Amino acid sequence: MIERTIKSHNPATGEYLGEVHVDEPERVKEIVALSRKAAREWGRRTFLERGDSLLGLQQVIVRRADEIAEVISSETGKPRIEAMAAEIAPVVYALRYWRKRAAKVLKPKTIPLRFLVYKKSYLTFYPLGVVGLIAPWNYPFAIPMGDMTMALIAGNSILLKPSEQTPLVGKLIASLFKEADFPEGVVSVLFGGGDTGAALIGAGVDKIVFTGGGSTGRRVMAMAAETLTPVTLELGGKDPMIICEDADLELAVEGALWGGMSNAGQTCAGVKRIYIARKIAEPFIEALVKRAERLRLGVPADDHVVDVGAIVLERQIDLYRSQLADAEAQGAKILCGGREWSAYHKGRFFAPTVVVHVQGNMRLVREETFGPILAVDEVDSVEEAIDKANDSELGLCASVWSRDINRAKRIAERLEAGTVVINDCTFTHALVETPWGGVKKSGFGRVHSDEGLKEFVNWRHINYNRGGRAGNTLWGRAFWWFPYSPAKYRLFRALTDWLGTYGWWSRGRAFLAMVKAFWKMKRIH
Ligand code: NAD
Repeated sequence: MIERTIKSHNPATGEYLGEVHVDEPERVKEIVALSRKAAREWGRRTFLERGDSLLGLQQVIVRRADEIAEVISSETGKPRIEAMAAEIAPVVYALRYWRKRAAKVLKPKTIPLRFLVYKKSYLTFYPLGVVGLIAPWNYPFAIPMGDMTMALIAGNSILLKPSEQTPLVGKLIASLFKEADFPEGVVSVLFGGGDTGAALIGAGVDKIVFTGGGSTGRRVMAMAAETLTPVTLELGGKDPMIICEDADLELAVEGALWGGMSNAGQTCAGVKRIYIARKIAEPFIEALVKRAERLRLGVPADDHVVDVGAIVLERQIDLYRSQLADAEAQGAKILCGGREWSAYHKGRFFAPTVVVHVQGNMRLVREETFGPILAVDEVDSVEEAIDKANDSELGLCASVWSRDINRAKRIAERLEAGTVVINDCTFTHALVETPWGGVKKSGFGRVHSDEGLKEFVNWRHINYNRGGRAGNTLWGRAFWWFPYSPAKYRLFRALTDWLGTYGWWSRGRAFLAMVKAFWKMKRIH
């Protein structure tokens, strides 16, 4: 069989960077088997032991941070500072955080019982086994590494399928684990496109964490349904930014600019739709356009500091063009950008774009854009802003800008999104303590946070008799066991009354009736 390869190019220059061999679907099953074997031993290690391995990995990352930034930057065309700030530093923090935190979150937990008080319950957590991670190209290091950190500390082995757009970052990730001396098979990286990803889903892993586009997410979920494999789906966003008339205008301009244009707008949680109070719209738009025009686009390199890097996929540029043409045809106005910009032959860039007079039915407002385009809509009231912000199929993140924190919180609490940030935006993927994930068609399940960690383990509920008695209940066996009788029925009727009765007096009477029924049943028993 001819071995397939994936060739990697720098989207900012077109330069050939290297290649990797594709892991054909038939090989994936073998790798899953190795991974399962490794998971058994890894899962038996203590949190302390696994934490020490993570610490070793952290030190390798810190030592090789500049090299990692360089590989991320060359394969995605993003400025190196974005690689360091949004990808490497958060991962180093996540490794530090989970090393200490995981044992606390996953220690056994007592569940207080309010009714059958002679019994006790507690929860224990144990690893899922083998976790498959399917990753996108836009944050090719931070996204998989953040999830891997949690899955590993929880005791699972990992199969990572990086995006075919960023295989060299995937290769680098594999080398970091190797250098940190992780046991064979605990972390494996599979290279390939959709067919390798599909093979991973069908290969009998215990969970799939998928981050990518909504249409792929749908296919992933359908495939996972075949084998009843649990999935977490982290999908697209179309994040609204609500700017109240009492907002700090300069802050809002800078926030919109960074939230919309960092990573060249190829951020799931980037600002895309701006709803601004009409009163302050004019100075805001004027300042936003002025600042957007001044952003430095270009090829990230040592001697050339840029603000906005390249667009990774050619088809993204086609999408921007068609969404903008649709918006213009319906009366929107492009105030700056709106066109491809070429810094270097074969490089792909798109000039930061600000569009006004947008309406809710435009594709620019309804569909995911995933590029450096801000659509600004002027609103007459907070109610209108909230309605428009919520009028979307997607619900990943949102932001609210106001000097009045209580007002901002009231607005935030009405937004349909997984995360709402006040007077800031887009950055909370880096806050590993907080949950990350969307609502509506932005996906489901959470990564990061205590809740996210618990998605990487099985929950085991254990129940026993208080005092450890072997006999089941007060008198030996459970009162709901055989034999059934009319008296037993009356007992459960009385119990149902008692459970559904309120007020001291009525509840006392229902309790007495229940004791009476219980006594009668016991005599017959
Ligand atoms: P994509 O859906 O094209 O690909 C994502 C991954 O899925 C890739 O590794 C790809 O090879 C794999 N894949 C493709 N077809 C598959 C199949 N049939 N079965 C299994 N795997 C398959 O997405 P992308 O272009 O890499 O990333 C951009 C998208 O990701 C955007 O929509 C963005 O909003 C989203 N995203 C979401 C988050 C989040 O946290 N919610 C974060 C980053 C990106």
